[in-house]
Amino acid sequence: MGMQIQFRKSIWIIQFVSIIFFSQNIFAQEGLFKDLIKTADKLNQVLLDLTEVSDEEENQVGEELDKEIMKKSKATSTEKWDIKKVWNDVLKQVSRKKIKYSYKVIKEKDVNAYAIAGGKIYINTGLLDFIKSKDELAFVIAHELAHIELKHCIRRIQHGVNASKIDPTLGVVVQVAYNTYRLPFNKYEEYDADSLGVVMMMKAGYSKQGAIDFFTKLAELEKKYNADKRDPVNDFISTHPFANKRKEKIEGMKGG
Ligand SMILES: [Zn+2]
Repeated sequence: MGMQIQFRKSIWIIQFVSIIFFSQNIFAQEGLFKDLIKTADKLNQVLLDLTEVSDEEENQVGEELDKEIMKKSKATSTEKWDIKKVWNDVLKQVSRKKIKYSYKVIKEKDVNAYAIAGGKIYINTGLLDFIKSKDELAFVIAHELAHIELKHCIRRIQHGVNASKIDPTLGVVVQVAYNTYRLPFNKYEEYDADSLGVVMMMKAGYSKQGAIDFFTKLAELEKKYNADKRDPVNDFISTHPFANKRKEKIEGMKGG
């Protein structure tokens, strides 16, 4: 009998201790969970800031930014190339189907083309005079579309908005977009847009040789610009020997 009572007492003590132990654990866990939730919230916020722009919102930013750009640019057309045909061929390769893609030819002699958020692409007449084949044109278009595919344009705006710490109304976002749209991408973004661009142009039935020819001529133009001490901020021409490096990478890619 005595043993049994003692045994029961022990069980009771063990249970009591267990309750205290588990309670403490629960409190500890609650604290831990709170911290975890806080961290997760912060993390979510960061991820949200970086990812949570819908394609519709991106289109809206693009529409507004385009209005600003067109206050200073003159749209024109060209008889030299069937841009529409090449554009439609390459456009079939994009995956972001909700983006409202469009292009404009801009009367401007710099050898340049650029893309903005929302899938709008601007091609200078200077570039259309510079290229010698529709394969080169296909590469330029595919390269610019690749910047949109890879979200380079909208991410740059998001980073700018985050850095400004201002409530991101559409007006603020468009202002940031306007302040940053002519800044060059970093070289990794350019390499990525080149390789995706080459994949897209080849799928569309064009030859990779167009990209190689384009960069061969561009390398010569870079030399000329450097010799002239010119420093154009340009999606294709840079101050360091960039075109040759880009050409080498494309030559190293599979397929023709
Ligand atoms: Zn580029």
